[in-house]
Parts: sequence; structure tokens; C-alpha cells
Amino acid sequence: DVVHAPFQLQLTNVKFAYPHTKNVILNGLSLTIHSGEKLAILGRSGAGKSTLVSLLRGDRQPNSGSVLLNDVPTSEFGDQISNYIGIVHQQPYLFNTSVLNNVRIGNEQATEGQVWSVLQRVGLAEKIHQLPDGLNTKVGEAGLGFSGGEQHRLSLARILLKNVPIVILDEPTVGLDPITEQQVIDTFMKELKDKTLIWVTHHLQGIDQMDQVIFLENGQVDLAGSPAQL
Ligand code: ATP
Ligand code: MG
Repeated sequence: DVVHAPFQLQLTNVKFAYPHTKNVILNGLSLTIHSGEKLAILGRSGAGKSTLVSLLRGDRQPNSGSVLLNDVPTSEFGDQISNYIGIVHQQPYLFNTSVLNNVRIGNEQATEGQVWSVLQRVGLAEKIHQLPDGLNTKVGEAGLGFSGGEQHRLSLARILLKNVPIVILDEPTVGLDPITEQQVIDTFMKELKDKTLIWVTHHLQGIDQMDQVIFLENGQVDLAGSPAQL
């Protein structure tokens, strides 16, 4: 099973353009990620980083070339892909329901004890204990009552509860003030240290904790190496 055995996520000569557009976003990109590895993806705005993430997760298919998780195209996993790959977006997705339900999405059988445990790990347990309705406090779609950093922590809690082997962070802390951003990144790095991690970032801070850094340019990997080499 991919979840427990060593695996690899392999892109080979991937070409991609959005439907009905001429602009080639990925133009022959190749990349391999092994289980346990930590990869940082850098590149200017519009370089195709989020597009690459959607291909990794199988949300989109390449026009040519392949995106394989242990030799199976990620697009063939369908909904099952969420058992393998979790993603934290720039804008956390929160739902107009309780804290409990927000953390349990995709993992409805989790116990309240398990939810408290991940809230503890992301540094939110104390705040939620103090709310009059505790775990049953409504979050609201806009994350009402939760600061930007707290919303990011809630989405990390959801990923930790699901315990997927591969986590993708797509610029998960943009828009936070620098101090909060650093605190959130520190929590992410600490809690995800045993995972396969793909981190789309504009930050050089924290890069030294990664095994591999790539720079995306003109639809290809323009520069790749370990943090020390770059
Ligand atoms: P940023 O750092 O700003 O998040 P990015 O590297 O993630 O940028 P992408 O979001 O992957 O860049 O976008 C790459 C290119 O694809 C951009 O030129 C963008 O306008 C285009 N693009 C993104 N989504 C679509 C879409 N759904 N349809 C058509 N073009 C799109
Ligand atoms: Mg992006």
C-alpha cells in the first residue's frame, strides 16, 4: 500500500496548457519525489507552481507525459487521492460549521479525543477550550472568530488528523504578518517532519530544512539542488 510502503511520485516530460488557451504552462517538466523527501518549489508569480500542484494531486491531467504515484497516474485515483495527498492552500478552506466538523472533514469517524490531540499539536487547544461552546463553536465560512494564523492552523489540524503520507503546502501563509507567518511555518515544519513534503514558497527562510529545491521557469525545472548547493 502506498501509504505505508516506500513510494515515488514521478513526473516525466509533462506538458500542460489550460483548455482553450495557447499558453503552455508546463513544457517538458520532469521531477521525482521519494517517500520522506522534502521538496521546495520556487518560481515567480504565474510560473505554474499551483498548476503543477493540481497535476500532482491528479486534479488535472497533463496533455502529454505522465504524473505517476507508484506507476499509477494520479488522475486515476479520483477521490481516493485524498488518502495519500493532503494540501494546504494559500487561503484555508473553512466551512460554515463547528470547529469539530471542520477538523474532521474527510475523516468523520475521528473521535473528539483525536481532534483535541491535533488541536494541541497545532497550538489551538487552549483557545478552543476557552470558547463557550468549545469544539462545537461555529467557525463560519470566512473563518469568523479566527485570525489568519489560526485558520491556517485549523487546516493543518485537518491534515494531521487525516494522517496522509504526502503533504503539499501551496504558499500556505501568504497574507499573514511576518511574526505570525514565522510561527505558523515553524509549526508546519515541526509537525510535518516525518512526512513527504512539497512546499511551494517564496521564502528562503526554512529552505535549509528541505532536501531538494527547484526553481520553476518557462515551464521547466530551471535550477535544482540541495539547499546548500543553491
Ligand atoms: P502564484 O505565485 O501567483 O501563485 P503560480 O506559479 O502558482 O503563481 P499558476 O497559478 O500555476 O502560477 O498559473 C500559471 C499560469 O496559468 C498563469 O499565467 C495563470 O494565469 C494561468 N492559469 C491559472 N489557472 C488558469 C485557469 N484555470 N485557466 C486558464 N489559465 C490559468
Ligand atoms: Mg500559486
